[in-house]
Amino acid sequence: MEIRLNEKTLHYSVEAYGKTWTWAASFAPSITFEQSEEVVYFAQARTITHKPWKTGVGKGVLSHYEGFEGPAEGLSFETIVWLEEATGYVRFEWVPLSESQAAVRAVYWPGPMECQQSGGYTLLNWQQGIRIPNDWPVATTKTPFNGMLGTAGAYMPWFAQVEPDGAYLAIAETPSNAGYDIDHPAGGPYTHMNIRWEPSLGRMAYRRVLQYRFFAKADHNTICKSYRAYALEAGRLRTLREKAVQAPGVANLVGTAFVHTGIKTKVQPNSEFYDPAEPAKNDHVTPFSQRTEEMKAFHEAGVKKLYLHLDGWAEPGYDNRHPDYGPIGEEAGGAAAMKELVDTVHALGYHFGIHDQYRDYYRSAPSFDENFACRLPGGGIPEHARWAGGPQSYLCATQAPYYVKRNFKALEEAGIALDGAYLDVFTCNEGDECDHPWHRMTREECYAYRQACFRYLLSKQILPSSEEVNDWAMPSLVFCHYAPYDFMMTEPGSERHGIPVPLFNLVYHDCVIEPWMMDRVSEQEDYMLYALLNGGAPYLRRDAAYPNIDGAFGGLSVDLMQVVERCRVVSELHEKVALCEMVRCDLLTEDGSVQQTVFSDGTTVTVDFNQQTYRID
Ligand SMILES: [Zn+2]
Repeated sequence: MEIRLNEKTLHYSVEAYGKTWTWAASFAPSITFEQSEEVVYFAQARTITHKPWKTGVGKGVLSHYEGFEGPAEGLSFETIVWLEEATGYVRFEWVPLSESQAAVRAVYWPGPMECQQSGGYTLLNWQQGIRIPNDWPVATTKTPFNGMLGTAGAYMPWFAQVEPDGAYLAIAETPSNAGYDIDHPAGGPYTHMNIRWEPSLGRMAYRRVLQYRFFAKADHNTICKSYRAYALEAGRLRTLREKAVQAPGVANLVGTAFVHTGIKTKVQPNSEFYDPAEPAKNDHVTPFSQRTEEMKAFHEAGVKKLYLHLDGWAEPGYDNRHPDYGPIGEEAGGAAAMKELVDTVHALGYHFGIHDQYRDYYRSAPSFDENFACRLPGGGIPEHARWAGGPQSYLCATQAPYYVKRNFKALEEAGIALDGAYLDVFTCNEGDECDHPWHRMTREECYAYRQACFRYLLSKQILPSSEEVNDWAMPSLVFCHYAPYDFMMTEPGSERHGIPVPLFNLVYHDCVIEPWMMDRVSEQEDYMLYALLNGGAPYLRRDAAYPNIDGAFGGLSVDLMQVVERCRVVSELHEKVALCEMVRCDLLTEDGSVQQTVFSDGTTVTVDFNQQTYRID
């Protein structure tokens, strides 16, 4: 292997296994700033030096940059690009020495690799995973949360590119304040992907590391298994079997069908969701007793294992007044009726959990105090009124574990026996940072506080769940609302960004339980096939909290007995493979319309999305 630096362009190239990886010609290392449109290039430093770097474990190039002007005045930094001899990994390290006068928005370095051979593709961790062939007809230039690592836009902190003559995997070893940019124009013929390092509390503060692993020959399976090995080393790969040692109730979710429904909706007039033309949409209540009868009906219909996720169970209704949610829905029958529902669920051999929320911080909450809202570095508090409860900011995550303990103690005292609990948005939205002096918090600390909430629940034998899944949450998360492919969040029939491949499950299938949408969304598309391919759990019923978002688009109607039968098939497979590693997923046709997964117990699932058939061996 060989690392080369072009002192004129400041481009690096890496020769590995006979292939030379070079940066896109259009790229120049650069920095952007807050409150300035000026882009500052590394090459504009008055002093730039390069020296050989050699230690006991590897060698490479050390570069020093200082003497910038404009918004970058005062900034100095070094880069170290080195090859680790024991592993063959190449690390690109960006090391701040002094901060600039203007706050940095992002550092763009290292650059995007050229990837434009016919047959080449990019692996993107946008939700469950996408494989984007270099010549794919649909453009991808924007992803959720602007590609911020730790969000639904990046379930795992890596990207990879595979060409016929070699491949690489790029892992962000410092993922907390980083995102990726992707440029895939319609038809390609290339995809450019680069990392973007962002500040922490307004400062670049610490060393950033992007680790490259090169391969002579690889596919998405090779890449995912290489990352799985990294996750194991990093302590993030904690299997369901390990979690079950602490919380034996994990077994209750194996082979379970999920029901997601609610009690009370109350959209406040000062919410963006408020619809003055249709008052009924803003205000409705279903008695707990009706949900109790529905549970009995599922039992009579032959559903053996079921987990009920209940929304809107307290006043003033779903997505209102958090973290001071309560009392238990009075209009729906009160605490006694909720207890009867929960006790009935248990008597039927089913399991129960609530929807809850410790990030959205509603101004209508009696305990709301701006002093505990996330404060931006330099002042200011992010606010909006998007959800049912109206105006809100974000509760600083340093405070979240306190509110979790207070609220779950109250439920325990009311006799509500919980098997699980869902803490909304933690695994979907970016970590927050907070600059309030009482509880200053970096984004990395925010993820740790979110995990503290999950771990508290685990310690109380309440299985923790959240909106989606993410690498950072794997040590403590047991299940989720869903972990869908990106296309499932858009209207059925929409153009796809690439071939759906289960990158997340190839790494973490045996670490978390994922319920899957089961809708037959059209004559051409049946989501049940994806549930099977992924060895996931089925949604028996999924009532959307808000229509037309979160992948809730309706679909063909199916009668209850058909739904129960479809869920039985998925649950039976889940019963077998829930705790197994997904060993590989192969595309049996080039377009990915026929795919096959293999699980570590030898189970093989083959699905044909065009013919809408499946086979389990
Ligand atoms: Zn804070």
